[in-house]
Amino acid sequence: MLTMNDIVREGHPALREIAKDVSIPPTNEDQNLLEDMLLFLKNSQDDEIARTYELRPGVGLAATQLGIAKRMIAIHFDDANGKKYSYGLINPRIVSHSVEKAYLASGEGCLSVDRSVEGYVPRYARITMKATDLEGNEIKLRLRDYAAIVFQHEIDHLNGVMFYDHINKDNPLLAPENAKAID
Ligand code: ZN
Repeated sequence: MLTMNDIVREGHPALREIAKDVSIPPTNEDQNLLEDMLLFLKNSQDDEIARTYELRPGVGLAATQLGIAKRMIAIHFDDANGKKYSYGLINPRIVSHSVEKAYLASGEGCLSVDRSVEGYVPRYARITMKATDLEGNEIKLRLRDYAAIVFQHEIDHLNGVMFYDHINKDNPLLAPENAKAID
């Protein structure tokens, strides 16, 4: 199983690499890796397992964060309305997005960043994504608010982008324009 020891941290060059497309259908190796990434997230949200293995709770993980430059992300969380999002996705891409932006009122965090970084991270409020899922099926997802933010954070990792790259350097807590705060 994956643990925090497998996750590369801020300053590691792998986090700035552009990940490569994964061949479809995925190989067993790629599928197993993606399943392990999803399992890590589930484990990290289980109090007892997380305590035993000292896992920081996370809702998303990109292969980039394991030092593997492949376009694969795992996502696992329930939104404020109790809707479940649990996906292992290959070659995820945003095919359209809103003009309106959104940002987390409490800022963003990252399993690869061992410090809290203050500042608002502007994201698209709504996105439509396409990707290949764990079973090899092409899927389309429409996401908004918190869910849209989580997916954008993970897709950014595949392009070597960290969440704090988006924070206003001069005034981190200046509310981004045309953006709504998400609690
Ligand atoms: Zn991250």
